[in-house]
Amino acid sequence: MNTGARLYPWTLGQARRITQDTERLPHALLLAGPRGLGKAACAAHVAQVLSCEHPDGAAPSSCGTCQNCRLLAAGTHPDVQWVVPAEEGKAIAIDQIRALAQFLHLRPHIGQRKIVVISPAEAMNTHAANSLLKLLEEPPPDSLLFLVSSDPVRLPATVRSRCQRVTFPRPARSEALAWLRAIEGFPGEQAELLLELAGGAPLQAVALQQDGFLAVRGELLEDIEALGTGKGDPVSCAARWKSHGARRCLEWLEGGVMDLIRIGMAPAHGTLANRDSSERLHVLEKRLNLKQLFRFLEAVSESRHLLDGPADELLLLEDVLIRWSRLAQQK
Ligand SMILES: [Zn+2]
Repeated sequence: MNTGARLYPWTLGQARRITQDTERLPHALLLAGPRGLGKAACAAHVAQVLSCEHPDGAAPSSCGTCQNCRLLAAGTHPDVQWVVPAEEGKAIAIDQIRALAQFLHLRPHIGQRKIVVISPAEAMNTHAANSLLKLLEEPPPDSLLFLVSSDPVRLPATVRSRCQRVTFPRPARSEALAWLRAIEGFPGEQAELLLELAGGAPLQAVALQQDGFLAVRGELLEDIEALGTGKGDPVSCAARWKSHGARRCLEWLEGGVMDLIRIGMAPAHGTLANRDSSERLHVLEKRLNLKQLFRFLEAVSESRHLLDGPADELLLLEDVLIRWSRLAQQK
């Protein structure tokens, strides 16, 4: 049970849209948008408002004191359920969706409807998604499903088409920066860099800061430079990258390669994700061929997607870094 209900300034509009006409709610909503915007927290907040006996529809907010609110705060509301992977990064299994079907076919215990949040929805494996599709085709009465996804294209089109989509765009840069700088203890001077590295998603920027990612990134950049000039060993590099978390290293590399492509296409213009390392990236770019960079970018994205399945992280990283070291020596 997730109790992290919260609205951020940039998710307020979406929450209002969902709660404004509770008589005409669809059976399923797909909350779609980049990671790090607080979509699941918004779903949790909306679930509170929809369950509350005395909600403030305009805010929208719940009263916090009625029986529904108290049960939700305690994580024991019998009509609200979360479906999440048993372990982070693992799939949502068919058994979880089957259990959900049973839950949804019971009448609500105390509230007006049953609410389910599936997050992240793209973590459902094929069997689970097919099982969910049956629920979407014949939705049980008084039920509301939230599918939270930062990668909705990975959901079957049949599932997507049966949900009403609520899109969560990134907030404006100025809004995101102001929000980050207002956080107590957040290093304001790093806000711009962290936000760029986070692809404009404020909560992702906070996560990167809390994980000390800037120090890690320093190492990654040095590795990329060394391998790019024929120094360093891709295999030992890969082992180090794995210890930093394969996913975030590949995510960073993807952004770094996009920076190099931006430099190659318009050397004097454009904002780089690694804005503080522009000079070093310009030097590196001179050794590279733009066409090959595009191909390498594809290989990096593909490897990153493979991480969602049962992949050998070390092998994936080795493969990517060996490719990279060859690339830089080919021009
Ligand atoms: Zn209440």
